[in-house]
Amino acid sequence: MSSGEPETLQSNGLLMHVRELVSEQQYRTWFRAVRQQDAGDGSIRLLVPNDFVMDWISNYFPDILAQAVRRCYGDDRKISLALDPDTPPAPKIERERPPMPPAAPPAAPGDSSLARSSDTSLHEEYTFENFVVGTSNRFAHAAATAVAEAPGKSYNPFFLHGSVGLGKTHLLQAICHQILAKDRRANILYLSCESFTNHFIASLENNDLPAFRQKYRKVDVLLVDDIHLLANKERTQEEFFHTFNTIYNLGRQIAISSDAPPKDIPTLQERLVSRFKMGLVVEIAPPDFETRVNILKRKARLRGHTLPDDVSHYLAEHISTNIRELEGSVVRLIGYAALENQPISLDLARVALSDATAARATAVTIHDIVSAVTRYFNVKLSDLQSKRRTQSIAFPRQVCMYVARQNTNLSLEEIGGYFGGRDHTTVIYATEKIKRMIDEDPHQAEIIRRLEKTVRG
Ligand code: ADP
Ligand code: MG
Repeated sequence: MSSGEPETLQSNGLLMHVRELVSEQQYRTWFRAVRQQDAGDGSIRLLVPNDFVMDWISNYFPDILAQAVRRCYGDDRKISLALDPDTPPAPKIERERPPMPPAAPPAAPGDSSLARSSDTSLHEEYTFENFVVGTSNRFAHAAATAVAEAPGKSYNPFFLHGSVGLGKTHLLQAICHQILAKDRRANILYLSCESFTNHFIASLENNDLPAFRQKYRKVDVLLVDDIHLLANKERTQEEFFHTFNTIYNLGRQIAISSDAPPKDIPTLQERLVSRFKMGLVVEIAPPDFETRVNILKRKARLRGHTLPDDVSHYLAEHISTNIRELEGSVVRLIGYAALENQPISLDLARVALSDATAARATAVTIHDIVSAVTRYFNVKLSDLQSKRRTQSIAFPRQVCMYVARQNTNLSLEEIGGYFGGRDHTTVIYATEKIKRMIDEDPHQAEIIRRLEKTVRG
């Protein structure tokens, strides 16, 4: 970890705090090869050995890092991750499976670790076979199948949008699986928009742009998940535009997912919007009751269980918008049955899910939050999603982020993405700031309490 030079030892202080906050196993798996670099502008940069570790740390350890920074420096200075230029490139092919982490990482709320993937791993379960088709996703499924059957020839680009947990990642990865099933050596690259951005920034910093371009522009199929995270990243947008053009002009396939249609992604350059609209734009909608029942049954079967009808109906009635939650309920129910050593039954489902349904009864959406906050502070959503940082805008934005963290299952990235493509550290910072304010200022605390009350309806 340390090169032994005094400077390195001293500047690894942050990692020592990280070590105290995670298990030894997690530390060894994720942080051992990480080096700290003081970026000079008062912020901290962590150099990570590869994209996979970068993804993993930024997805699962942002809170730990923020805590470590506070312990180490007593403030909330900014922290960023970059690829370590001194790490020899791993001999990897894009679809190589990463080593599985030995210990479960601290899961972000609402996010099963299953729902995460990096550019180096595809989730085995995310195949067309395991995708339950219903009215809400029939068209998206058919289009994705067509793309997988004839990449570059049917719908190009393929742009899939819909809200969180409705199967966008699943479908993009199903395309990959299908193409790989036909040709194991197919030159495809699936990655999150975040990985693309991080890799791009690292290549700028390392003066390695040609290699970056070589990597992305030579692929036959490029699939980029969560492209809405390009919001507010001008240089990355610019680079992606050229990547897109190169691939597209070669007649190769591009598939993209987003939480919003192209024109609704804040600050997305017009020329990218029009590129994205050139092919097929498909929305994936929340599943109807029958589809939810079928998904529940399928998820249980994948885990070797059969759900009685009354149980699947009960769950499908109570969980209506997010398939990730449906899946979570099945997993919990199976776990609960095993723990109690009882067969899966409606009674058990009721007991096992009473907490979850109580939480759902008060489930809050980001729209509820925005609507309450914009009314209270008399600002517009477009302001909150803009780059403006004046206090009159920044403060309500931070309040939104805080309330979203406290009242929804959205991940840091999802919340940051919604408010103008801000990154997870901004959300952590906002949340911590509002928390402190609540502790210190009873008047403000009361305002937040009332807002939360309104939001919870
Ligand atoms: P998104 O990327 O849209 O947020 P995901 O693709 O991660 O959503 O889906 C969330 C979870 O729901 C995944 O575990 C996925 O397998 C499951 N899922 C979504 N849609 C379906 C479907 N139609 N059939 C089976 N599972 C689904
Ligand atoms: Mg996704």
